[in-house]
Amino acid sequence: MSKEDKKPPITPRRKFFTLMAQNIGLGAMGGLLWTGYAAKAKSSPLTLRPPAAIKEEEFLRTCIKCGLCSEACLNRPSNIDKETNKARPATLKMAKAQDSVTIGTPFFTPRDVPCYMCEDIPCVPVCPSGALDPLLVTNEKNELDPQMMDMGLAVVDQNSCIAFWGIQCDACYRACPLLDVAIKLEYDRNERTGKHAFLKPVVVMNACTGCGLCEKACVTEKAAIFVLPREIALGKPGSHYVKGWDTKDQQRVEERVGKDVTTHTKRSEKKPQDYLNMDLEY
Ligand code: SF4
Ligand code: SF4
Ligand code: SF4
Repeated sequence: MSKEDKKPPITPRRKFFTLMAQNIGLGAMGGLLWTGYAAKAKSSPLTLRPPAAIKEEEFLRTCIKCGLCSEACLNRPSNIDKETNKARPATLKMAKAQDSVTIGTPFFTPRDVPCYMCEDIPCVPVCPSGALDPLLVTNEKNELDPQMMDMGLAVVDQNSCIAFWGIQCDACYRACPLLDVAIKLEYDRNERTGKHAFLKPVVVMNACTGCGLCEKACVTEKAAIFVLPREIALGKPGSHYVKGWDTKDQQRVEERVGKDVTTHTKRSEKKPQDYLNMDLEY
């Protein structure tokens, strides 16, 4: 007798329970897939947005995922390959399910395609929703100004940057459109050899636009200079620290003078001598 012959007959009742079990299995699998999909739909805090993007939370509420910014980036005249007469891949991509970015929103990955800081910033004025705000990149002369872009901040990993090992490399420095403004080479003596010098790339925090041309140009296997969203790249000391040489900080202090901002407790009303050695017996 074969194994098939040993099987019990399929009754309507058995068929019903088998189908139900299959449906529950498929439902559970669907749930798992949806959970994964929903997780992908959440934006990564490391997402780099187009130039002139408003604050991330507001951006996610405002962007209508129309793709006009990405289209303008793709079709800008400077992106047309003169040899093939075809457009190269655009800087701005619209996130798909496999990207760790909210689906349908524009972002860029500098190591693949950086932002070329176009003079006329064509991706910004086309935004119909206000998710990209031209005012954020408009200067006092009322002109669009690429130097005002703030997509992120380049950070140098001193452990993997070969210039910090003493090997001559200035690829990132030369790639920067704001050479000697956003990135500088700092001279340092190489104490190990005694006869060589270090020329270390140093990013100027307030001038870097986060375009990522340096990241793209970096010669190491994994870029030793890379762009992060500014709030991720920078620390935060807290507003209670005051720089004596900073006029804005000084203004903050002046505004507080005369206002009682200290915390009073029963203990703080006493002098230290009042409770020093309290309850001690000799
Ligand atoms: S400024 Fe950057 S993101 Fe905008 S169109 Fe030019 S390359 Fe694309
Ligand atoms: S053009 Fe504006 S609204 Fe449309 S996808 Fe780009 S950022 Fe979003
Ligand atoms: S991201 Fe790099 S290339 Fe772009 S401005 Fe900053 S330092 Fe220069």
